[in-house]
This record gives sequence, structure tokens and C-alpha cells, in this order.
Amino acid sequence: MNAIELSHISFSYDNQVDVIKDVSLAIPKGSYTTIVGQNGSGKSTIAKLIIGLLASKSGKVYVMGKELNEENVYDVRSHIGIVFQNPDNQFIGSTVADDIAFGLENHCVKQEKMQAIIEDVAKRVGMQDFLNSEPTKLSGGQKQRVAIAGILAMEPDIIIFDESTSMLDPQGKASINQQIKNLHKHKNITILSITHDMEEVAQSEHVIVLNSGKIVMEGKPMDIFKQEEVLKQMKLDVPFAYRFSKKLKKEKIIDDCVCTLEEVVNQLCQLKSMI
Ligand code: ADP
Repeated sequence: MNAIELSHISFSYDNQVDVIKDVSLAIPKGSYTTIVGQNGSGKSTIAKLIIGLLASKSGKVYVMGKELNEENVYDVRSHIGIVFQNPDNQFIGSTVADDIAFGLENHCVKQEKMQAIIEDVAKRVGMQDFLNSEPTKLSGGQKQRVAIAGILAMEPDIIIFDESTSMLDPQGKASINQQIKNLHKHKNITILSITHDMEEVAQSEHVIVLNSGKIVMEGKPMDIFKQEEVLKQMKLDVPFAYRFSKKLKKEKIIDDCVCTLEEVVNQLCQLKSMI
């Protein structure tokens, strides 16, 4: 079953120019998909169409098998959690625990069940030692981890990361990318991540490349990175690990290109063990 499906979606903000042009895509349940594209290519608009914040001009949106319409938009949205770009804009509570509790209260979860849920989700994102901390005193990466914990507490089927690492330092970025990887391991959550970070793209299962409101490429990260020249024309880069592995391959040190640092290290370790 597909968690998200768009069928021939077109959308215009001004009823004149289509910023999304006949886009069809399918995101299977439990999968990890990244959407990349330069600024203005339509990534955020697609996310807004999926959660029903915008209504398409033509085409259909399906979430967890249900066609999105005016009547079921709130029900459909309850399946989805979103981690936004700015970590500072997502806090309501005065402590991390309060913040996670807020969503649970809204979902009428009983008080006696709350503490266990809060502790569990905080642990899942490695923030169990910060439950009494003020969110404002946390680093950007920690704030995003709390935002993820708040979403996990709601047990969504789908989490959308909307440029969630773009305001973070490299360490924060790496920690959120690791969190996303961990979430994906369990396969019970579908992950859709809109990102500029090619290191994150490399760790996803499926990549959709958008340009001027159209899907121009989609496939496995390696299939996309092989189209380096096409990516360059769209001002998109390939990850460091891919470039590095290409050099190693050229020097005949390794046989195949890879796209994550972990894979480069594995290849080099294999070599070392053969020497
Ligand atoms: P991305 O997320 O890839 O940067 P967007 O989805 O934000 O792209 O934007 C796609 C296109 O829609 C761009 O041309 C942008 O200028 C336009 N756009 C985005 N939001 C609005 C809006 N609220 N009103 C009018 N045009 C918009």
C-alpha cells in the first residue's frame, strides 16, 4: 500500500502559472523518500498539497489509501507529523516534557499514561536527560530532536521533514540525519524528507528530483548521483562520499562507487583486511 500518492497533480497560486505541473508520485508505506530541487522548484508546495493546506487545481491526492477532500482533511492530517525548518518555531511548553505532553493532552491521552509515553519518545531521540530543560536553552539539533519526539508521541503513520536540517550546524544536521535513519529502521513510519542536504539524500531509499514544478528524475540515490551533470545544471551537488569514491575508483583502489561515508569506510576496511 502507498502511504502517499499523487495522481496528475497540477497547482497554481494565481490561477495563471502552474507551479506544480502534472506531478504523479507514489510513496510506499514504511519507505524513506527524499525530495530535492533548487529553490522555487515546488517542494514545499507539494508538502502543502499532501497535508491539504493547499487544494490542487487538478489531480488527486491519496494519504494512507484515502482520497484527500475537504471533509476528511483533518482526519488525513492526523496521520502525518511535520518537522519544520525553524527549530525555534515549534515549541509551546516551558520544558521539554511539557512540550511533548502538549500534543498528548490535545489527543486526550490519560494523565497516568503520559509520563511513560514522554519518557519513551524522549529516549528514542536521545533526549531523555533533558526532560526538565527549557527548550530555548537547547541547541538547534536538540530542539529538532524534541520536535521529532513530540511527533512520535502522536504515533503518526507518516513524518514529513520540511528542510528540517537547513538551519542546523553540521553536528546538528548529522544528529537529525541519524534520527531519521533510526526511525526508518523500524519500517512502521513512512518518511518523506524535503532537503538540500545531499548527505541525507544518500541515506534515503528513493529520491525525487523536482525542477520547475515537474519531476525530472527519480530513483535510488546512486542512480541520481550518476546523473551528476544533469544535477549540476539544476544547481544540485553530489555528496562528498560519492565524489571521494569516484576518485578511489579512478585510482583503481575500489571497484564501485558508493554514496555514503559509511560505505566508503566499509570498502576501505575490506581492502585493509585483504592486504
Ligand atoms: P521550494 O519549496 O522548492 O523552494 P515552493 O514550493 O516554495 O518551492 O515554490 C514553488 C513556486 O511557487 C515558486 O515559484 C514560488 O515563488 C511560488 N510560490 C510559493 N509560495 C507562494 C505563495 N504563497 N504565493 C505565490 N507564489 C508562491
